[in-house]
Amino acid sequence: MTTHVTIVGAGLGGLTLARVLHVHGIPATVHEAETSPTARAQGGMLDIHDDNGQPALRTAGLFEEFRGLVLEGRQASRALAPDGTVLYEEGDDGTGGRPEVMRGELRRMLLDSLPAGTVRWGHKVRAARPLGDGRHEVAFADGTCVVTSLLVGADGAWSRVRPLLSDAAPEYVGMSFVETYLFDADVRHPATAKAVGDGAMFALAPGKAIQAHRESGGTLHAYVALRKPREWFDGVDLAGAAGAARVAREFAGWAPELTALITDADAAPVLRPLHTLPAAHRWERVPGVTLLGDAAHLMPPSGEGANLAMYDGAELGRALAAHPGDAEAALAAYERDLFPRGAAEAADASRLHALMYGDDAPYALIDMFAGSE
Ligand SMILES: Cc1cc2nc3c(=O)[nH]c(=O)nc-3n(C[C@H](O)[C@H](O)[C@H](O)COP(=O)(O)OP(=O)(O)OC[C@H]3O[C@@H](n4cnc5c(N)ncnc54)[C@H](O)[C@@H]3O)c2cc1C
Repeated sequence: MTTHVTIVGAGLGGLTLARVLHVHGIPATVHEAETSPTARAQGGMLDIHDDNGQPALRTAGLFEEFRGLVLEGRQASRALAPDGTVLYEEGDDGTGGRPEVMRGELRRMLLDSLPAGTVRWGHKVRAARPLGDGRHEVAFADGTCVVTSLLVGADGAWSRVRPLLSDAAPEYVGMSFVETYLFDADVRHPATAKAVGDGAMFALAPGKAIQAHRESGGTLHAYVALRKPREWFDGVDLAGAAGAARVAREFAGWAPELTALITDADAAPVLRPLHTLPAAHRWERVPGVTLLGDAAHLMPPSGEGANLAMYDGAELGRALAAHPGDAEAALAAYERDLFPRGAAEAADASRLHALMYGDDAPYALIDMFAGSE
């Protein structure tokens, strides 16, 4: 019988692991810092890929339920020039391998698939320390602690479990996203809704971009990318209109239907600084503990991070089920595949980042789109 598994973090990775363990009758507890499932908006749409996110959902026994969440038609994509001219366009004929779902709905599906009480909300981990023989003590911000013989850090970029395994720390990539929303856009922001189209829209230039996605209910969700030092953003108060205007000034001369994604946002813009771990991040086996998802391999956004976190969770769950009573063999098998997988995806993500925001923007991305047809 595999021991009780202690998971830190109820993101998509930690929840997929908990679900796969549950399918195999292995007990787990997920400790999550947020105080409830609805404490924080879960961000926008995710495309779930047929080579990692979808197989993970099959392993979790949730593939059919996932299909019910798919927003049809959202795999369309287009690239615009800064003046709004359409440079490239591709429709969604329903045959693509990357169907889109709302992240919050996916997380809710995973939560609902777990036995009541599996997730302990409001359990923010402060630190974890080794006790010997593969056991660890996990200390929470409220002063309580638990001792576990199998600990999994699924706690994202700023993992409190990672220091048990590695000294690596996230580094700023030199670029941040400013996240904005326009609601009921077909009625309230028709020119911008038309520019974004039915799915994803990319307007790229060297070192900057306005990119947006049409979500459910006519919502436009945008990431405005700017290559700037962290300190530059410290001087921009995004909570006020002046902050949005300051960001928009970086796009002077761009089509107003594009800059409206900054200036006409219906909720205060949110800063998302981008960080990475070293591309080939790995560690020596430490008994009783491992990592998954962003805690293990944080990379620039490439559309893979959430997919990989779910895949890691499913693979770790499968490895534990395949080695009953021998958690070390399971962790070794899991990490043997995790490291090359994470390294390859991180290298791809860095390449994509350079291609999207480098000197050849927007044509490098358009060539890539055209080449994949
Ligand atoms: C701007 C942006 C856009 C992105 N877009 C996409 C995309 O389109 N597609 C895609 O696949 N990926 C995307 N990603 C990447 C993706 O969001 C991550 O790779 C993915 O969420 C990682 O999942 P995870 O489960 O490892 O970690 P997370 O989703 O970060 O979940 C970690 C969980 O742990 C909890 N936690 C953190 N610290 C503690 C603690 N100390 N104690 C207890 N709990 C804790 C957090 O509250 C959270 O619930 C994007 C990332 C960014 C920054």
